[in-house]
Amino acid sequence: MKAKGAEMAGKDCVKVAVRVRPFNKREKDAGSRCIVSVSSNTVTIQDPRNEQTRRTFTFDYAYWSHSGFTRNRDGLFVPEEAGGRYADQGSVFQDLGQGILENALQGYNATLLAYGQTGSGKSYSMVGYGPNKGLVPTLCERLFQAVKVNQDNRQCQVFFSMLEIYNEQVIDLLSKGGRAPGNLRVREDQQRGFYVEGLRKVPSDSATQVEQLMDQGTRTRTTAATHMNANSSRSHMLIMIQLKQIFSKENLTKQSNIYLVDLAGSERQRSSGSEADRLKEGTAINLSLTTLGNVISSLADAALGKKVVHIPYRQSVLTKLLQSALGGNSRTVMIATLSPADICYEESLSTLRYAERAK
Ligand code: ADP
Repeated sequence: MKAKGAEMAGKDCVKVAVRVRPFNKREKDAGSRCIVSVSSNTVTIQDPRNEQTRRTFTFDYAYWSHSGFTRNRDGLFVPEEAGGRYADQGSVFQDLGQGILENALQGYNATLLAYGQTGSGKSYSMVGYGPNKGLVPTLCERLFQAVKVNQDNRQCQVFFSMLEIYNEQVIDLLSKGGRAPGNLRVREDQQRGFYVEGLRKVPSDSATQVEQLMDQGTRTRTTAATHMNANSSRSHMLIMIQLKQIFSKENLTKQSNIYLVDLAGSERQRSSGSEADRLKEGTAINLSLTTLGNVISSLADAALGKKVVHIPYRQSVLTKLLQSALGGNSRTVMIATLSPADICYEESLSTLRYAERAK
């Protein structure tokens, strides 16, 4: 068995998964064709205007979210024929969430990011809808199960925070009274690195409590967006789970942070016809998504032994806050979400390119 350090120093520290959601009603009504196919860990996308133009990308994992779809007018595969892997929420957690949990229990930080255009399945994968619980609630459930074990040798404390980054401003989604105070300051400290001054950290001891906090945060996010005349898909949502483990016999404390990030929609900002506010939003989103892509790809290069001079963490609020949980011994997982439909070709191709850079 490999030593932990050796394992995390390799390219294993960044994992990328692509998940294709089922067709939605709008796409079905428009008679959309399937231009994406999944096979083993590769995703192929076809240009709907030119059948000869196909590009294949390889990732750590590639998933269909559906089975039984049959629309094969163009000789392009439909899910069952392609033999791609159908993955429900549970198997996605097993592949992506379990490792993060184990890592955190060993005292390392981790970041899980969902990237994709609005409506492609980021929230479904991260948070989930109804009984289809996503990565965050399942991770919390398993975390609380794990910390209850072996309480004689170890005392655990879990703190939960939830914030939003909108136009490079940080908003606490769990502030008391349910009103979101705008623009908290991001500070830097020698020991702690970057942190948000005054961010609420709620001591938590059950998954049910965390789910209530997530509901509260989501409500605050919607209200804050309405106040700012914005849409919540234009902001990044970041959940931070701090795990502190105290081993009194050994006189040892391990602390790890898990960051779970539902990124702003990656769709390109149309420059014409945008009002000033939308343009400002678009610039802020582009800045943070581009910086994040640059940071992750520099880290992936460094992990492969390539020479990396500078990792541009400081260029956006998002990457500042994630600095301690990207790179080093931290585990980074990105789930990139896609629509299977021809009408989303440009956005899906750009999502695949972005995800490929992270490898
Ligand atoms: P986003 O967060 O990227 O804007 P959502 O997660 O809200 O998108 O997904 C849009 C819609 O597609 C939702 O109705 C959701 O239930 C559905 N959906 C997304 N991903 C999946 C999936 N993997 N399986 C089933 N339904 C999905």
